[in-house]
Amino acid sequence: MLTLKGVGKRYPTGDRALSDIDLTLPRGQVLALIGPSGAGKSTLIRCVNRLVEPSQGSIRLEGDELTALSGAGLRRARRSMGMIFQEYALVDRLSVMENVLSGRLGYVGFWRSFFRRYPEDAVREAFRLLERVGLEHAIDKRADALSGGQRQRVGIARALLQSPRLLLVDEPTASLDPKTSRQIMRLIRELCAERGLAAIINIHDVALAQQFADRIVGLRAGQIVFDGAPSGLTSEILTTIYGEEEWDTRVEPEDTEARPALASREPGASRAFTPAVSGGLR
Ligand code: ADP
Repeated sequence: MLTLKGVGKRYPTGDRALSDIDLTLPRGQVLALIGPSGAGKSTLIRCVNRLVEPSQGSIRLEGDELTALSGAGLRRARRSMGMIFQEYALVDRLSVMENVLSGRLGYVGFWRSFFRRYPEDAVREAFRLLERVGLEHAIDKRADALSGGQRQRVGIARALLQSPRLLLVDEPTASLDPKTSRQIMRLIRELCAERGLAAIINIHDVALAQQFADRIVGLRAGQIVFDGAPSGLTSEILTTIYGEEEWDTRVEPEDTEARPALASREPGASRAFTPAVSGGLR
């Protein structure tokens, strides 16, 4: 459904953030993008929705050449891509419901959204989504009264309200504790399965990527250095992706919650890899 061919990005500062990226994402696949800070993960995600203009290459989403779009065509294409950000990007003084409904701004037009009048079907769907993400009790709360995990759930519901075909997720768990991070990743994973959505998730936590993604793409210095199943992430490959740090392999403590139904794994594949150097994964 999404195909990148020869995508490159050089920023005006001269930094080459991406070189010759070829990637095909089938419908329904959850892809985790991993790599050290500065590898180009955010740039890649932002090239897809054209928040960053690629310098070269082609990006096609279900037949549309995204790099050739502008104006109304670009706005329409962007609506088919739900963006979930690290910092949630919520409007603090608005309620949970209003924040979710703002996901429909592109549809309802400026004046209706200015007066915050949303079509009834949008309100009903927003309520259904808030129920699905476990926030039906909080619809009237102001966004700034929520915990980090709840704020991320609002961000997820808002992204889904525009009925996207693809989710672009940038560091969804960077500000969350480990348990909440797993819950959020599990929710994203389940929603993708329920709605047949493909997702690209830029995630700094290798263990979470392994646990919840169908496929891992490792970026280093703007190039893809690994593309495969989570079980293929050996310590050698992690060293290729992250550099010559010493890798410390340890078994993750068993999660008390139910594990997601992932494809069967090879023995040892549930081991989590973390770099021995502190902060090596951002
Ligand atoms: P990651 O998300 O993997 O940390 P980024 O995509 O943020 O990587 O950055 C990739 C490279 O592009 C880095 O060298 C970074 O300094 C550079 N870069 C990112 N954004 C900009 C920008 N707006 N202007 C100039 N250089 C940038």
